[in-house]
Amino acid sequence: MADGAGQRNRDGFDPESGSGSSEDTRIRRTSSRRSTWTNGQSVVAITTPSILTPSFDLELCLTKLEEEGFHIPAEDFETPLRTALEHPSIKRYLFFNSSLFHFIMAPIMYVVLWCALYSSLHLYLNESVMKLWVLCLCVTIVVLVITAVIITVFHYSNKEIDVNIDVRLVQVNERLIGHGLLLGVADWIEKCTGKMQLCCVFWDLGPCLRTLTETLEELDLVRDEIKNKLKKRMSHLIVVAEVPLPEPDAGEISEDPDEEHPLLGLGRESRSPPKKREEVTLTQTFSLLPDFTLSYQDIANQLLMIYSAVYVKLLVSERLPSSSCGPLDSDRHHCTMAPLCLCQYVQYKLLQ
Ligand SMILES: [Zn+2]
Repeated sequence: MADGAGQRNRDGFDPESGSGSSEDTRIRRTSSRRSTWTNGQSVVAITTPSILTPSFDLELCLTKLEEEGFHIPAEDFETPLRTALEHPSIKRYLFFNSSLFHFIMAPIMYVVLWCALYSSLHLYLNESVMKLWVLCLCVTIVVLVITAVIITVFHYSNKEIDVNIDVRLVQVNERLIGHGLLLGVADWIEKCTGKMQLCCVFWDLGPCLRTLTETLEELDLVRDEIKNKLKKRMSHLIVVAEVPLPEPDAGEISEDPDEEHPLLGLGRESRSPPKKREEVTLTQTFSLLPDFTLSYQDIANQLLMIYSAVYVKLLVSERLPSSSCGPLDSDRHHCTMAPLCLCQYVQYKLLQ
């Protein structure tokens, strides 16, 4: 996909434009490249070298983005991405939630379930009640059905928004959309091999933002029906964050104003060490449900950002629902690369 995009880029470059200084030429070349992108086109895709400990070469990704004409400062790319994906617990989650792990677990689970069920039934049923081959056949059918159900549940849960990955990437996409990019982590199985990629796609949010704002106005968000629908479908989108303790009041610091402090201050340090206070953090939960007192445009922008990473994940791995899934307006389609554009996907998930 990225190769195709690169080819399109190369074709779109006008060599006649390079008549000024080398810097002017470079700027014209990059702006010319930027104008050739269309919504949903993959700009850069970086594959993790190991699925066991997933990590992405962000410096390589940034270099490739610059080659494609996207100059992004580190505070808008590397810093928030490292915060979102570099924590060891997130890497473990990426592995245990990957398609490859589910692919490996399916036959193991089948064998374990088969042995457990067969040995349990064989213990209570003697051969006079049921012949051995009949017992084996029944156990095989039951275990096949159970395994198929579990695989189907995993398959559909992978298509939903993931609070631990997709929601963590919201803050990255909020910065990248200013540069015309959206980002997501996609993983799939290809020829019995797990593939996990950090994908950056081009996206101009303007048309989607306008359309979703108009849709919210048409639906009249103040109606309780729409509010309740959003509350119900977004109730699980809760972010847990650790925040430092609030600064104590001035009166709290000087607990005992009448006490005489020693000149070296040793007594004071041992009584309330400031370092310990900095180490203590509070765990707070934040709901991603939009504030209904905001304008329709702000609410639409929040919804588009929240679902941006999962949309990129499904777009790249070609798992987006088909456009025939609901009565969506085909004229309001802002992505030629996928059956649904971002605003249509938000409508499909939240407003239908
Ligand atoms: Zn759209």
